[in-house]
Amino acid sequence: MTASPVPSIRSWVADAIQSIEADFNRSSDAHLLHVPLPGVRGVALYLKDESTHPTGSLKHRLARSLFLYGLCNGWIGPRTTIIEASSGSTAVSEAYFARMLGLRFIAVMPRATSAEKIAEIAFYGGESHFVDSAAAMYEESARLAASLGGHYMDQFTFAERATDWRGNNNIAESMFSQMASEEHPIPAWIVIGAGTGGTSATLGRYIRYRRLPTRLCLADPEASVFHRHLADRSVRAVAGPPSLIEGIGRPRCEPSFIPELIDRACTAPDAASIASARVLSRRIGRSCGGSTGTNLWAAAEIIAEMEARGEKGSVATLLCDSGERYRSTHLDDAWLAQRGIDISAATAIMERFFETGIFTTPDESRG
Ligand SMILES: *Cc1c(COP(=O)(O)O)cnc(C)c1O
Repeated sequence: MTASPVPSIRSWVADAIQSIEADFNRSSDAHLLHVPLPGVRGVALYLKDESTHPTGSLKHRLARSLFLYGLCNGWIGPRTTIIEASSGSTAVSEAYFARMLGLRFIAVMPRATSAEKIAEIAFYGGESHFVDSAAAMYEESARLAASLGGHYMDQFTFAERATDWRGNNNIAESMFSQMASEEHPIPAWIVIGAGTGGTSATLGRYIRYRRLPTRLCLADPEASVFHRHLADRSVRAVAGPPSLIEGIGRPRCEPSFIPELIDRACTAPDAASIASARVLSRRIGRSCGGSTGTNLWAAAEIIAEMEARGEKGSVATLLCDSGERYRSTHLDDAWLAQRGIDISAATAIMERFFETGIFTTPDESRG
């Protein structure tokens, strides 16, 4: 009688889960930073610094959850090639876990993905496979998985369900517990961008589950479909040039994005996101990526409104990844100039917000 292969695969899976749990156990929680706003009297701003994860972004959480989900579902075994559609950050984090488990990893990414991220994927032993546009990633990933007999992780579908939204030290539970000793421990608003929509789903569900009054604001690039979908549920895709802000702002409405959980959307032009990330980096002495700038632009709008109404409270958002990933793009003035992006007006608006608590976008000042 030949032995069933099942016990050896099951013991490999058990060891794989053990390795991921041990990585979690070695890691500390991301800091919740208090952001000084010299011109704001009644409202405090907090920033959860997700750049401190071992792979440098909030996608470390997602990659961990997706691997555990795939392992516990029996989708990932000792010889499974892992394939993912990614604008870069998820691929960096998944490459890290794939290497930890000894699995081949292939990232399917838009050609325009920053060189820094491509180098990081290679650093963790991952392979990069390019497509011409973000819209082409999904089909190519599925095709590649079928032809290699691999597993397409599909973050855009599984992000919302791979995360334990009730707790288990997810990002929501962690944020609220870190707020506990603050003057206003329950934030009036949490401001969040959406890429997969997984983080906003976790936060929105957690807020309801814990019966908290906190509202959720989507910070969305102008080129993104998500705020259009919130305004009109029949809009599920958008054509036109994609946002330059990596990680958020999608051309199609992703399955993990749950619109019912969003109380409001604030949009930001890419120049405003880039300007805000630079201003914030200078103000807090930590490098911030573009999607963090989008979050700040939206948070400034909300905080200025609260100030104008004389409200007191707190607003929390995320530092999603470090600006170091965008040295050759957002932080390079020549790169901006080549694309005709002028960040001077938005920089002045954001500096003025910090100094006065007043936030007026160019559209508003034109009347
Ligand atoms: C993925 C990502 C986001 C958005 O998070 P989701 O949970 O996917 O919606 C924001 N910023 C960066 C840098 C990201 O990589």
